[in-house]
Amino acid sequence: MKYIVALDQGTTSSRAVVVDERGGVVAAHGEEFEQIYPQPGWVEHDPKDILSSQVRALKAAVEKAGIDPRDIAGIGVTNQRETTIIWDKKTGKPVCNAIVWQCRRTAGEIERLKAEGATENIQKRTGLIPDAYFCASKIQWILRNVPGARAAAQAGELLFGTVDTFLIWNLTKERAHVTDVSNASRTMLYNIHTMQWDEELLRLMEIPAAILPKVVDSSGVVGMLDPAILGVEIPICGIAGDQQAALFGQACFEKGMVKTTYGTGGFLLMQTGEEAVESKNGLLTTVAWRVGGKTEYALEGSVFVAGAAVQWLRDEMKLISSAAESEQVALSVEDTGGVYMVPAFTGLGAPYWDMYGRGTVVGLTRGTGRAHLVRATLEAIAFQTADVMEAMHKDSRIAITQMRADGGASANAFLMQFQADILGVNVVRPAVTETTAMGAAFLAGLAMGVWESREQVASIWHAQKSFEPSFSEDMRAQKLASWHRAVLRAMRWAD
Ligand code: ADP
Repeated sequence: MKYIVALDQGTTSSRAVVVDERGGVVAAHGEEFEQIYPQPGWVEHDPKDILSSQVRALKAAVEKAGIDPRDIAGIGVTNQRETTIIWDKKTGKPVCNAIVWQCRRTAGEIERLKAEGATENIQKRTGLIPDAYFCASKIQWILRNVPGARAAAQAGELLFGTVDTFLIWNLTKERAHVTDVSNASRTMLYNIHTMQWDEELLRLMEIPAAILPKVVDSSGVVGMLDPAILGVEIPICGIAGDQQAALFGQACFEKGMVKTTYGTGGFLLMQTGEEAVESKNGLLTTVAWRVGGKTEYALEGSVFVAGAAVQWLRDEMKLISSAAESEQVALSVEDTGGVYMVPAFTGLGAPYWDMYGRGTVVGLTRGTGRAHLVRATLEAIAFQTADVMEAMHKDSRIAITQMRADGGASANAFLMQFQADILGVNVVRPAVTETTAMGAAFLAGLAMGVWESREQVASIWHAQKSFEPSFSEDMRAQKLASWHRAVLRAMRWAD
C-alpha cells in the first residue's frame, strides 16, 4: 500500500492527514496554535508556530497511521490563503509576524487605491476586487514599516511567501522557493491571464520582483522533504490554497460544478474550465489550479454569515443548546409560518454589497415560535447561498449541474434538503468530508502516479448522500421572491 500525506495549514490549526491509495483517510492529527491580536482589527501568527505545529502534526499523523515513512509516495500542501510572510534568505528568520488574511491594517491603503480609480485595472489583471485580504498591501506594509526591510528586499536578501511557500522553503532540503498558481492568484500581484507576476502591479505596490517565489503547477514535484523530519526524503508534489483544494477534493472537474463549504461563513467556488470569467456581480475570478500545464479557473463568492447564524441562535438567543439540535427543531414545524430571517450581522455580501445592511426578522405573527425562527435561520443560509449561485450563473452563463457540500453545517440534513429545494439542483455530501486535505492529497498523488488520471480520482470520490430538489418551480420562485423582499428590508439600515 502506498500513502499520501496532506498538510492542511489552516487559520487556527495545522493538520496532517494520511490517505491511502484507495482514497481512504488512515489517520489525521491537528495542532492548534496562537492567534495574535496586537491591535483591534489586526491579526498575526508567529511563523515559527505555523512551522512547528505543522511538523508536529505531520509526525503525529504518520505515527498514528502506523506506517513506514518509506511507503509515503508524496506530500501535498494546502493552506490558509493570502496570509503573508517575509523572511531572510540566509537565516530563515521572518522579519515580522505573519500578517493573517483577516487582518485589516491595510484597509486604508486599499481605500486610497480604490479612490485613485485602480479597481478596474486590478480586477482586469488579477480577477480580484481590491481588498486588504490579499497579499499585495500586506507586503507593501511590511516593506514600509519594518526597519531596513525595503533595502534588504531590493538587495535580494528577503523572500516573500504565502503559507505554502514558507512551509515548503522550510521543509525541503533544497529550500525550494515556490508557490502554486492558485495561491499566486490570491496575492493581487499575479496576472491570471498571462500567468505571470504583473510588473505594473508590482510597480504600483512598490514591490521588488526579487522577493517573489517561482510559480509552479499545482501538481508536480517541487522539492524533497528534509530527511531530518521523518528519516527519509519524500517528494513534496502538490500545492493549492484551501478553497481551491476543497474544489479539487470534491472532484469538481467539470465546468459548472460547484462546491460550497458551510462553515462559520459559506464559501462557494464554481469551476469554469479554461475560461477566466470576469464577474459583474461582485464575485472573484481565481485560478482553480494548473495541472499538466493546463490552467482551469473558478468563480468565487462567499456568504459572510452561515454557521455563525446557528451559533447566534445557540449562544445569544439560547433557542437551541447545540448547533446540531437546530435540525430537529426546524423539522418540528412544517414551515416558518411566513417568517424570514436575514442574518446580515455584518452587512450583505454578493450580490448586494451593502455594508450598512443589518440582521432582520420579518413576518412575525402572534403564532410565531422558537421553531419557526430556528427554521428561518437555517433557510437563510440556503437562500444566501442560492443568491451567490445565481450571481455565478449570471456571470458565467454556465448551467449549474450539481452542488457538492462540505463543512460543519453540511451535517444538517434539513439544511441540505432545503438547499436542494431552493436551488432546484442536486446537493451532494461526500463520504469523506476532509475535502481540503483530500484535494491536496489528490494533487500530490496525481504527480506521483498513485492515481493515473483525474477520472480515476473522480471514481475514488464517493457521495454519502444526495439531496434531490422537491419544490415545484412555483413554490421555489415564490419563496425566493419573499426572501428578496426580506433582504430589501434589511438593506441600508445602519448609518
Ligand atoms: P469553520 O471551519 O469555519 O470553523 P466548520 O466547518 O468547523 O467551520 O463548521 C462550524 C460551523 O458549522 C459553526 O458555525 C456551527 O454553528 C455550524 N454547524 C455545525 N454543525 C451544525 C449542524 N448540525 N447544523 C447547523 N450548523 C452546524
